[in-house]
Amino acid sequence: MAKISFLLKKKFFLFILSLIIIINFPSLSFATESTSFKKKFSATILIYHRFGEDEYPSTNVRIEQFNQHIEKLKSENFNIISLGKVIQAYEKNLSLPEKSITITIDDAFESVYTHAWPILKREGIPFALFISTDTIGHKNYMSWEQIKELLNEGVEIGNHSSSHFHFNELSYEEIEKDVRDAKRKINQKLGLKKQIFSYPFGEYDLKFINIIKKIGFVAALGQQSSVFNETEDLFQIPRFPINEEYGKIDRFDFIINLNSLRVTNIVPQDPNLQHINPPAFGFNVLGESTNLNCFSNTGDEWKKEKLEILEDNRIEVILTKPFSKGRGRINCTRQNSKGEWEWMGKQFYIP
Ligand SMILES: [Zn+2]
Repeated sequence: MAKISFLLKKKFFLFILSLIIIINFPSLSFATESTSFKKKFSATILIYHRFGEDEYPSTNVRIEQFNQHIEKLKSENFNIISLGKVIQAYEKNLSLPEKSITITIDDAFESVYTHAWPILKREGIPFALFISTDTIGHKNYMSWEQIKELLNEGVEIGNHSSSHFHFNELSYEEIEKDVRDAKRKINQKLGLKKQIFSYPFGEYDLKFINIIKKIGFVAALGQQSSVFNETEDLFQIPRFPINEEYGKIDRFDFIINLNSLRVTNIVPQDPNLQHINPPAFGFNVLGESTNLNCFSNTGDEWKKEKLEILEDNRIEVILTKPFSKGRGRINCTRQNSKGEWEWMGKQFYIP
């Protein structure tokens, strides 16, 4: 159901790969030193979809990959914490332990129950499962009974809409109705009044965010690749999608060891580029502006963009090409003095 553009993923992977090559050769000590730079609130949130469904590589991880991920997180002492705890810490302005990682799974495919759940349960690993209520009980999806079983075992269940719509295909009234219906149903079936939302396909704009706030959700998650930190928005929480490409162990290792690149005053605020494309994209970066690079994906490939550095570490990214229809991305990276990578990503929607 999560239709991720495989081509975009592939290009993005190549970009990550190039960074991995740069990192791994000059600085082999990077993996062991990476945590000390993290500031008080920082968590890397992962999003999975399918497990052992090898015919869907763009949304799937192979079972042996998933086992490797869990093994790595445990053996390298990552602090795997629940989404609820991360959100609570954000709201209360508390710190998080270093190397904090959160696992989320969207769509509730049956393979979550048959393949991932036994592993996660055995290892005592918390995770959040986001469900689209219309699909529950259908072929290849989990049933309400299975979801209840997970809930009773302490799994967090979140709202992923009723119909898993593309937000541009519905009016805002229809979006509101769809999401309210899902919220009511989840409350009815599972007794969950307080809910967290996950945007279908990770696509949203400011109006959609306002609907989510109005309905009374605690927080909302996207699919833009950034490390969640205190400068990020509670209703645009970033996550790193993991599939067969990103699930390869060296790429997974790279992602889980990324640090936050903290930025403020991002322009444009609305990810919907209906009226201005390419946008005048800019932000203030915390810390040095040296070693900062930004890359855009305006359609089919990643391109390093020219930066204009103004007073107070104001960065303007000079985009030369408009984004193509659909999803567009900008990722900015900075390498610190220890050779560690800091990362910030934004996703745009182009109608
Ligand atoms: Zn989904």
